[in-house]
Amino acid sequence: MGFDEMDVDTIWMDGEFVDWDDAQIHVLTHGLHYGSGVFEGARCYDTEEGPAIFRWDEHLERLYQSCKPYEMEIDHSREELTEATVELIQRQDLSSCYIRPIAFYGYNSLGVSPGDCPTRTAIAAWPWGAYLGEDALENGIEVMISSWRKHASSQIPTNAKTTGLYVNSMLAGEEARRNGYAEAIVLNKEGDVAEGPGENLFMVRDGELYTPGLSESILDGITRDTVITLAEDLGYTVHDTVSISRGELNTADELFFTGSAAEVTPIRKVDNVVIGDGSRGPVTEELQNKFFEVVERRTDEYDKWFDYV
Ligand code: PMP
Repeated sequence: MGFDEMDVDTIWMDGEFVDWDDAQIHVLTHGLHYGSGVFEGARCYDTEEGPAIFRWDEHLERLYQSCKPYEMEIDHSREELTEATVELIQRQDLSSCYIRPIAFYGYNSLGVSPGDCPTRTAIAAWPWGAYLGEDALENGIEVMISSWRKHASSQIPTNAKTTGLYVNSMLAGEEARRNGYAEAIVLNKEGDVAEGPGENLFMVRDGELYTPGLSESILDGITRDTVITLAEDLGYTVHDTVSISRGELNTADELFFTGSAAEVTPIRKVDNVVIGDGSRGPVTEELQNKFFEVVERRTDEYDKWFDYV
């Protein structure tokens, strides 16, 4: 669904609330030409106590951390961005939504050096259902190992959520969809499993969980961290510093993706190989149920993860 079909009308930009249609930038913006922006994607869930933003502090922390390699300074404090986000949700009367903060080098000159380009900051929020579809959450998706490799962390900081990185995600995801798959799995330069275009990956084997370590050229996903915490609290052993080979995917009992957009999405097939019995596996289902119980606040546990609007 396009933005024009949504009931949204306000964007926060550089300290002010502006009409949706007025949130414009110059065509010679540095970030547009060179991908010099950093961003976040968080979710706000509809709960009995009103809209609740999930792990906002961690998203803000990652946003500011992502600026560091690019020497970018956001001219707004965390408190200001938090207040802006809360008010944005209230003004648009959103009960649940996806939240997209972005900071980027703006308009001044177009040398690759950002020079005196100002840092621009904006936040948008809009309704966004299941990223890969409701059916995906229940029945799982078929994924393709991309022919594209993930950037090596020696080439670009893969732990910073930088706009320019996402052309790699676009190439991998579109290649998969062109071939009839819902999403891609992207291998790192070494040929081991990194992650999805916008998701981290988990494998279940013999009742234990495995997810590629941070040195495998992945984003340090907040949902990855959430699932590790939930799984450990449920008594599972989680191996989160490992390297996973492509071949291990084929023999996994279960596989699933995690992400703020994708939430917990089972994977039922990788290329031509059926994973487990080809449906959502029992461990995935337990973790997925727990995840939704937590984010929809049907439990008091983990309340520290929520900011109520
Ligand atoms: N990897 C990549 C490349 C992503 O874009 C995302 C989405 N932000 C993730 C992993 C998952 O991260 P998170 O759980 O923090 O959304």
